[in-house]
Amino acid sequence: MTTSATNALLVGNPRTGTVDFEFVPATAAEITAIADDLRGAQGTWAAAGVAYRVEVLRRWADAIEKDAQAIGDAEMTDTGRSRVAHEVPFMVAAAVRGWCDQAPAILERARLRGISSTSESVSYDTQFDPYALVGVISPWNHPFLLSTLDAIPALLAGCAVIVKPSEITPRFVAPVSDTIAAVPELAAVFHYVTGGAETGQAILAEVDALCFTGSVATGRALAVACAQRFIPAFLELGGKDAVIVAKGADLSQAAAAVLKGGVHNTGQLCFSTERVYVDAAIHDAFVDELVTQAERLDLTYPDIEHGHIGPFIMARQADIVDDHLDDAVSRGATIRCGGRSETLGGGRYMRATVLTGVDHGMKIMREETFGPVLPVMPYADLDEALRLANDSVYGLSGAVIAGSAEEAGSIARGLNAGAISLQDTSLTINIMRDVEKTSFGSSGLGGSRMGPNGLLRFLRRKALITRAGAVVDMDALREDAAPA
Ligand code: NAD
Repeated sequence: MTTSATNALLVGNPRTGTVDFEFVPATAAEITAIADDLRGAQGTWAAAGVAYRVEVLRRWADAIEKDAQAIGDAEMTDTGRSRVAHEVPFMVAAAVRGWCDQAPAILERARLRGISSTSESVSYDTQFDPYALVGVISPWNHPFLLSTLDAIPALLAGCAVIVKPSEITPRFVAPVSDTIAAVPELAAVFHYVTGGAETGQAILAEVDALCFTGSVATGRALAVACAQRFIPAFLELGGKDAVIVAKGADLSQAAAAVLKGGVHNTGQLCFSTERVYVDAAIHDAFVDELVTQAERLDLTYPDIEHGHIGPFIMARQADIVDDHLDDAVSRGATIRCGGRSETLGGGRYMRATVLTGVDHGMKIMREETFGPVLPVMPYADLDEALRLANDSVYGLSGAVIAGSAEEAGSIARGLNAGAISLQDTSLTINIMRDVEKTSFGSSGLGGSRMGPNGLLRFLRRKALITRAGAVVDMDALREDAAPA
C-alpha cells in the first residue's frame, strides 16, 4: 500500500499481488461533518426505545442477506478466500438477529431497582444513557465481521456509530454501505468511512467511546489517547494462543483440532493456535500424526474454490511469517512439513507448516506470527506445560485437549487467558453473545465484548434515588440529636 500524489491509497490484491483498487481516505473535516450528522440523529434513535431499534436492525439483517453475494464477492477480493467471504454476510445477519433477540432482556435485567439496603424510605431505579457516538476501528483479517462485532450492540444500546475498517481491505465497504442506505432510519446513525491511521485519528477526536480491534502497538497508543480525552477504550488485541495436549488425548482428534486452529484463514486470526505443548510421552506420535494430516492440505491455488489454505491477505504478513521461520531455523528448529512462503500467480501462499525443536528464545514462540505455522514443544509435566503456556505477554485465548473434558477443564484453570476451548480449538466464535470473558495480559482492555456486557458497556448508568415521605431535616443532623 502506497500513497499516490493525489492522496489516494492503493490496495493490493492478495491473489495476484497487483494493485487493482484505490480510494481517497476520509479527511478530518469529512469525519467531523459525519460525526455532527450522526450526533444530530442519535437523540431520536436513543429515545425511540429498544423495540424500535430492534425492528430497524432486523431490516438491516434482511438487507445484508439480500446483498450477500455482492458483499461476499467484494470481501473475496479483499481477502483472497471464497467460502468464508461468502459465509460472512450470513454470519453478520445472524449476529444482528441474535443481538435483537437478546437485547430487550439484557436491558431489563440490568435495570436495578428496589429499596435501599440502609434506609427503608429510600428507593432507587436505573436510567441508561448511551454514549452518543461510538467509534469502531477494525483490522484486515476478517473485514466485514470484525467491523460489526462492536457496532451491532452499540446501535442496540442507542448509540450512533462510525466505523473505519482497515485500509488494507476496503472493497467490502461500498456494498455494506448500500445495505445501510436501504434502511434510512439506520443510515441516520450508522456510517462506514474508509481510510488509514490519519482517518482513525480523526475518528478518535470526535467520538465518546472507542472500540478498537487490532495490534497491541496501535491499541496501546489509542488507549493512551482515549485516557487523555477521558473516554473509554474497548480494546481487542493480538494473541499467541497456546494449546496443551495431555497424555490421554486422542491423537487423531487432537491433531485435527490443532491443525484447524493453526491454519484456518491462513492463520490470520487473533485466536489462531500459535503454540503447541505436548506431553513428552506422546510428543513424537502426535507430531507424526499432525504432519500426516497437515500434508493432506492443499493451497487454494490456482482455483480459489478448491483447497484449504488461501493466500496471505498482504505481502507484508508473509514476510513476517518467513522471518519467524528463518529465526526459528537459525536457532535450531526443524521444519517437519511446509516451510517458507511461495509466490504463486503473484499471491503469497504458505503450506501448513509444523516445526519441532523450538524454544521460547525464538520469535515463533513469543511474537504473534499470524500464519499457518504450528511450533510443537514437549513438556515433562503439567506444571511445566502451564508455565510455558503462560510465558507470554498475550492472554487472549487458548485450548486444552486431554483424555476427557473434565481433565481438560481442570488443566484450563491454570491457564492465563480469557477463553479456553476444551477438547477442540478456536471455539470462541460460538459463544459471542452468551458468556463474558476478560482478556489477560496485552490482549485487551475495557471489559468483555462478549455476553451481556457486550451491550451494557455502551450505557452509562444513572442511579435515580427517591425519598418516600418527609425529608430528613437539619434538626435530625444536630450533633446532639438522638441516634436514628
Ligand atoms: P493495526 O493495529 O495495524 O490496525 C488496525 C486498525 O487501526 C486499522 O483500521 C488501521 O487503519 C487503524 N490504525 C492504525 N494506526 C492507527 C492510528 N495511529 N490511529 C488510529 N487508527 C489506526 O492492526 P492490523 O494489522 O490491521 O490487525 C491485525 C491485528 O489485529 C493482530 O494483532 C490481530 O491479532 C488483531 N486482532 C484482534 C482481534 C480480537 O478480537 N482480539 C480480532 C482480530 C484481529
